Amino acid sequence: MKSVIFIAPPAAGKGTQSSRLEDLGYIHISTGDMLREEISSGSKLGMEIKEIIDKGNLVSDELVYELIKNKLDNITKPFILDGYPRTLTQAESLDNLLQELNLNNYEVIYLDLPFEEALKRALGRLTCSCGASYNIYYKNLAPKKEGICDKCGEELTKRCDDNEESFKVRFETFINNTKPIKEYYENKNKLHIIDALASNEEITDKIKEILK
Ligand code: AMP
Repeated sequence: MKSVIFIAPPAAGKGTQSSRLEDLGYIHISTGDMLREEISSGSKLGMEIKEIIDKGNLVSDELVYELIKNKLDNITKPFILDGYPRTLTQAESLDNLLQELNLNNYEVIYLDLPFEEALKRALGRLTCSCGASYNIYYKNLAPKKEGICDKCGEELTKRCDDNEESFKVRFETFINNTKPIKEYYENKNKLHIIDALASNEEITDKIKEILK
């Protein structure tokens, strides 16, 4: 199986698609999740990261590179990169790392979503510590009991950066940084664009087709 690099604006469904692929035996590597874990640990670094993330800005290329390198060293299964690379510098560092580790069997999937839809998804998103994700603005995605996870019964939480102000910064940063990354992978013949307005099932089917 080929590995996957997801490139997508915030709230386009990278996390959802990653969990669906995990069922096929992929290792899900999310820089956002790793950074949120560091915040939860209460460390000094975590507090610095929180300040950056809450404003919708990006943490340093060096820090996320260390996180990714630790995960990819000694990896034995195909992987999903969710949230990395987010800048051209990150894409170039990643390319060197993947070559060094002989992990070049991958495809890049770009989930395309307009701003208004992404904003609606972000503002309605609720997540659970067990990994489940819900959306109060979509009937079929809302939890059965308000604020409670259907799967494990825990209380659902809203991400601190899923507010309108941070979201606008995150989306704008994404659009500005992504153009060169798309070109970079297009030149390598690795880029596949999928319309993220399609259903989760349709998107997963398209991804599977690409990874065959
Ligand atoms: P995500 O969960 O992927 O939406 O990431 C949440 C936040 O973590 C982002 O808005 C950034 O502040 C930070 N972050 C995640 N991945 C990266 C990355 N590759 N480079 C820099 N910052 C990142």
